[in-house]
Amino acid sequence: MSANDPGDHSMTDRHRAPRYAATGAIPRVPADGLDGAFKAAFLGPVAENAELVERLIVDALRDHVYWRRNFHPEDPPVIGTGAKNEEGYQKFVARTEHVLRRLAADLKGSAPWFSPRYIGHMASDLLIPGVVARILATLYNPNNVSADAGGAMLAVETEVGAQLARMVGFDTRASASPRAWGHLTSGGTVANYEGLRQIRAVRLLPVALAKAARDLGLGTVTSEMLGSTVEAASTWRLLNLGVSASLRFRSELVAAAFHVGGAPLAREFHQASEKARVEQVGLFDFAREHGVEPPVVLVPHSAHYSWAKAMRLLGLGTNNLLAVDTDAHMRMDVDHLSALLDELAEAKRPVLAVVGVLGTTEFGTLDPIDRIVEVREIRHAAGQAFAVHVDAAWGGYLATLVREPDGSFAARESVGESFRYFPSTNVYNALVGLSQADSITIDPHKLGFIPYPAGAFVTRDRRVAGLLDATAAYVFDNGDAGPVEVEVHDADLGRYVLEGSKPGSSAASVFATHEVLPLDREGFGLLLSRTLHSSEWLFDELHRLSDRLKGIARLQVPIEPDCNVVCLIVNPEGNSSASEMNAFMRELVEGMRLRPGKSARDLEFMGSFTSIPADRMLSQDGLCVLDTLGIESDTVPAAGSIFVLRHTLMNPWLLNETSRPLARYIEFLERRIQSLLHQA
Ligand SMILES: *Cc1c(COP(=O)(O)O)cnc(C)c1O
Repeated sequence: MSANDPGDHSMTDRHRAPRYAATGAIPRVPADGLDGAFKAAFLGPVAENAELVERLIVDALRDHVYWRRNFHPEDPPVIGTGAKNEEGYQKFVARTEHVLRRLAADLKGSAPWFSPRYIGHMASDLLIPGVVARILATLYNPNNVSADAGGAMLAVETEVGAQLARMVGFDTRASASPRAWGHLTSGGTVANYEGLRQIRAVRLLPVALAKAARDLGLGTVTSEMLGSTVEAASTWRLLNLGVSASLRFRSELVAAAFHVGGAPLAREFHQASEKARVEQVGLFDFAREHGVEPPVVLVPHSAHYSWAKAMRLLGLGTNNLLAVDTDAHMRMDVDHLSALLDELAEAKRPVLAVVGVLGTTEFGTLDPIDRIVEVREIRHAAGQAFAVHVDAAWGGYLATLVREPDGSFAARESVGESFRYFPSTNVYNALVGLSQADSITIDPHKLGFIPYPAGAFVTRDRRVAGLLDATAAYVFDNGDAGPVEVEVHDADLGRYVLEGSKPGSSAASVFATHEVLPLDREGFGLLLSRTLHSSEWLFDELHRLSDRLKGIARLQVPIEPDCNVVCLIVNPEGNSSASEMNAFMRELVEGMRLRPGKSARDLEFMGSFTSIPADRMLSQDGLCVLDTLGIESDTVPAAGSIFVLRHTLMNPWLLNETSRPLARYIEFLERRIQSLLHQA
């Protein structure tokens, strides 16, 4: 494998030996001005930008003070200038200072995410615009539940939703159909709930529409979407209409009702259909009345546990969350997906959604979103419909790497120019495939370097979001023109979303960040490039370390890094037992693991730890990994799973030439492995 091979840029290519390619020069860091600009983007590992941040925060506070002072300058102060001499006043100040100091002391036990010594979980330093904008907005305390309470920050949130929608390739223009929509949530978990709630609403809608039509004597209406009359359509057919066809089916029936009985019948039909929806009757009665088998949701084995929570929450049941196999790259196995879909079609089990993960929480791997949407099209044509939701809580922002400032996609060759391996064909196609998903979860508080809480939900078709507010889906009194569908009102955000009161300061924080660093390869993409350069550098150096330790330990990167998560397994030479290797890995990781009550200062570097289930290790490629490590495969089942050292490379300074954090980490790792081997 040569650097930037125009073929597959896989970091590990198991089909070609050697497993690690010999590498050349240190990766090129983009030479344009933004490299310098990033020096102003973070507070910095030793608070280098303290003055800048202080100035911005003080400025935000002063500006807020002027606002209050100038609101009604004629109002007399209610807190007199002498108040500070009163005993109660002084006591309150003292208590406040005391509590704040205690909190500040407790906070020193936090994980030092700002430090390049921290390469563990998915957190890092924060972008200054996001931090200051959040503090700035908090002083005003906007509540984005509605326009009244959110003020200008609600429009800012709408814009942030649109920015993220454009980032993934959705169309947000007013003239677009479908037109995308997005908003912020407290995090990826809630965005996933929201995705599933919307999908359930739209996927089960046609059954309610057909019932209302039959009840109102409209059963003989012929529907283009169904390809038959309403009467002739089976429940199975109605359950397999697909997202946009379901919405069009509703328009068809509203129009037919209007045609037959004018605005009154159209209104009556609409109201009857709303009453028949699962959101009104509940899952029990809906299933009983229509004889619907429990609908399922398909996720890869690697899915985040929020999907199980979502199934519990929505009453769908975790029994109906089916796991699709992942391959040895920890990406969804699309052949297994197809096999599962066959079985489900056979059993007449409706599939609400297939969830693809763009950036698994454990390994940072990207499911083949392009192929999942392809399967959706093929199945839809064959009468089995489902929505595709992408859980891109981690990897969503990677889409900036393939997006030109003008909104078009960058070619893979061009994206790959500044990298040694990124993006592999799979990664590139998955990122481009995002634009075909029905809805997507993205976490600005992960790869967006924005303070918690900031998750986001985006949908390709805002009308789906509109289904969650039943109060005014149509205007019926519209003369001869017929009923008109009401657009989602951004001013009433709280009506469509799961949350009620929600921080406008999140919107301010995300917006400021996106404005300073646009969501394309010349803005945000450059920041993420740095994290990928670090990952490629680490990957190559682990190979060199592997060479140096030859004869005493075997090193293996078990999963091809799709982005900036790099895993490592180390096995002492001569050991062939998986349990023994796990014990060694535990010890190795112990010295890098933050635990409650343990001071981060006692750790030279901080990583994180995960495991690969035994069945995954016993797949064909997994066996290859075991073989290289010298592990007998029949020792794996007893071990249960294989422990893995996990590095998340988000910190922007890992390749800094003065402090060389990542190079020092490699030295640290080598020392640690050597000393553990000597102890043994
Ligand atoms: C982090 C993560 C979530 C959950 O997001 P929160 O913001 O922690 O609620 C969901 N899915 C994936 C893939 C994630 O990485």
